[in-house]
Amino acid sequence: MQQLIEGVHKFRLEDFGHYRELFQRLSKKGQNPHSLFITCADSRVLAVLMTHSKPGDLFVVKNVGNIVPPSDMVHATNSTAAAIEFATGVLGVRDIVLCGHTQCGAMHALMDDAPQDPDMPHLNHWLRLAQPVRDTLTQHYPHLTDLEDRATAAAGENVRFGLKNLRTYPTVAKRLAEGSLQLHGWMFKIATAEVFAYDPESGQFKPFNPDLS
Ligand SMILES: [Zn+2]
Repeated sequence: MQQLIEGVHKFRLEDFGHYRELFQRLSKKGQNPHSLFITCADSRVLAVLMTHSKPGDLFVVKNVGNIVPPSDMVHATNSTAAAIEFATGVLGVRDIVLCGHTQCGAMHALMDDAPQDPDMPHLNHWLRLAQPVRDTLTQHYPHLTDLEDRATAAAGENVRFGLKNLRTYPTVAKRLAEGSLQLHGWMFKIATAEVFAYDPESGQFKPFNPDLS
């Protein structure tokens, strides 16, 4: 906790000056983020940092495993579904980025055959939402035996699964039909900060910006 308290003081003393006008403007005018960015709760995946964004740019949703359940599978209290509706129906974001990552603990847990911990019913239930990803791995990736390779493949399939599910939300479907919203699937490689974008035509993740790599 001491680290957090010192960080708050350090930010206000050393960094806030660079953002003072921006924060004051955002405070008066409200937020108008251009994108909804859905990614994993993992502490190493930081949407604002990895995209060099500023306060007010991104409406960020972080959940365990960046899972986007289909609209008809979520309960009224599902915060990810609520955020998707708010960002697309109220804030009017123009893009949704669904970003998975390498070394994802949730993807490892999803593929783990170990008995589920009865003390973590919410986590167990949440990961079960991505059961179709596990099924896809079983069917289409039997050749992958290395655990990390399987987790990376699962992370990619999980992004594809989420992109499909995003379209089941009425506010998303409406905006897509209007042509005022675009969906993007990304994969973040933690060790190198490389970003790969999903290409629907080839079904592959491709280097995001090869000119800069
Ligand atoms: Zn993760």
